[in-house]
This record gives sequence, C-alpha cells and structure tokens, in this order.
Amino acid sequence: RAKADGRGTYRFFETGMDARAQARRLLEMDLRAAVQRNEFAVYYQPIRDVARDVVVAFEALVRWKHPERGLISPVNFIPLAEETGLVVALGEQVLQVACAEAATWPDDIGVAVNLSPVQFKSPNLVASVVDALALSGLDARRLELEITESVLLQNSEATLTTLHELRALGVRISLDDFGTGYSSLSYLRSFPFDKIKIDRSFVQELSTREDSMAIVRAVTGLGRSLGIATTAEGVENDAQLELLRREGCTQVQGYLFSQPRPASEVTNMLERPRFRASA
Ligand code: C2E
Ligand code: MG
Ligand code: MG
Ligand code: MG
Repeated sequence: RAKADGRGTYRFFETGMDARAQARRLLEMDLRAAVQRNEFAVYYQPIRDVARDVVVAFEALVRWKHPERGLISPVNFIPLAEETGLVVALGEQVLQVACAEAATWPDDIGVAVNLSPVQFKSPNLVASVVDALALSGLDARRLELEITESVLLQNSEATLTTLHELRALGVRISLDDFGTGYSSLSYLRSFPFDKIKIDRSFVQELSTREDSMAIVRAVTGLGRSLGIATTAEGVENDAQLELLRREGCTQVQGYLFSQPRPASEVTNMLERPRFRASA
C-alpha cells in the first residue's frame, strides 16, 4: 500500500513542483515585461514631524499596476524582483519617478525611497542616484534613501564607501525596519546614518507589550544620544502617537495619518492638518 501510494504521491509531488515552478516562471516573465513597459506606480505616505506637527516628507512605495490583476503590493513581487535582479531596473524607475514627482512639491518637503540590498550592491547605484537628481532637478537634501540592516551584513568596506559617496551628494540615509533584522548596535557607530526607522511591529504592540515599549524607549534614547533622528512606522492610533511623543520620537508615519496614496493626492494630503485615511 505504501509503495503504491508512494508512487502516486511522488508523481503528484512532481506535478505540484512543476505547477509552482511554472507559476513562478510566468510571474517572472510578467515582471520582466512590466519593467520594460514601466507598469509601476509610486504611492506616497506622509511622514510627520512630531514636535512641529507637520508633514516633512513622503515615503515612496511602489505598486505594480498589472493590466489584468490590478494593483499588486510590493510584498508580492519585490522578493522575485530581487532574486531575478529585475529590482535594479525597477528601483531605478522608482527613484526617477519619486525624484521627479517630489520636485513638483513644496521645497521643504522631502521624499524617502527604499533601496533593495540587491540594488544597493549594484555598481550603478551612485550613478543612478546622480542621474535621478539631475533629471528631476531635485535638491539632494530633499532625498532620503532607506536601506535595511541586511545591506550592512555583506562586504562592509564597499558598503561604507557607497554610503559615504551617497552622503557626499547631500542625500540622507535611513536605517529601515530597525530591530527586525540582524540588528547590531555597532552598525550605528560604523555607518553614517541620519535616521533610524523603528519597525512597525514594535509600534503596534506599544500599549499592549511592556517589552515593545522598552525597545522603543531604548531606540529613541539611542537616537537622541547619537544625534540620529528616529521615525516610528505603522502608527495607527492616538495612544501609540502619545507614547511615541512622550519618548521623544522625532517623526511618525502610519495609517493614523494616511495610507500610501497616489501622487495626485499629495497636494491634498499637505493641505489637511491631519489627514486620516477613510478606509
Ligand atoms: P517599508 O519600507 O518598511 O514600508 C512601510 C510599509 O508599511 C508599507 O507597506 C506601508 O504601506 C506600510 N504601513 C505604513 N503605515 C502602516 C500602518 O499604520 N499599518 C500597517 N499595517 N502598515 C503600514 P507596502 O507599501 O506594502 O511596502 C512593503 C515593503 O515593500 C516596504 O516596507 C519595502 O520594504 C518594500 N518596498 C516598497 N516599495 C519599494 C521600492 O520602491 N523598492 C524596494 N526595494 N522596496 C520597496
Ligand atoms: Mg521603507
Ligand atoms: Mg520600514
Ligand atoms: Mg517595513
């Protein structure tokens, strides 16, 4: 019985693998074509200064405008884009679009762009940032680049050189999703960061878990001592905002103020004292 089933199971397993591999190949072809046709839209989520209670920047978050499947979230295609290297071309498009759109906003509003570790390692990175700034005319001081801790794990000499080259352009560097990766405090000493972004998993448990509160307090304190700004992401309610304000967190971002919205709504978001998403 086991043997008979074993054979059947084996064949089923093989077919299953095949279907998955094929789905992945199809998605990859789709993604490759999408990068060629530039089927992406950049959405923007406001980042607010806590002390002044105003919007100071927007984070650029990519969406795939799939002709049949509609809007696809980056969590569903960035990993494949990274595996296939397509994220380099995609990331350059996002950077160019975000800089061009930000150049139309008021001068005191910045833009934060996420960089994949794969994109960060590509030899073209610094040149692509220079290009995006030149093409858009955006002042480099208005651009922030968000990198994750995984960038810092590999090849620290080259990483440090790249970070210094970017900062020499006048661009600022943020450490995204802080506390979720292979966080090491020595990164904060070895690499020149302007900002630490506290991951939303800590923010969301602020009022319910003592340990999350302790972590947020430690990170904001660390930022203060090192002269590095701190941004809390994923702020969804007033209780979280109040706790973050009390801890001296520099900036906040989250659905409490707005979900990421298309570029056409940025002006709208700037006009409202405190934009709240309706859904
Ligand atoms: P991230 O850089 O940490 O961006 C923050 C994510 O949290 C965004 O998800 C945002 O919509 C979401 N978020 C913000 N406020 C709240 C909140 O109050 N509650 C909840 N539940 N979520 C909130 P999104 O847009 O789906 O992006 C997911 C991730 O995809 C980003 O995380 C980033 O790692 C990546 N990503 C997005 N755009 C790009 C891009 O252009 N290039 C690269 N390499 N990665 C990108
Ligand atoms: Mg980010
Ligand atoms: Mg983040
Ligand atoms: Mg995140």
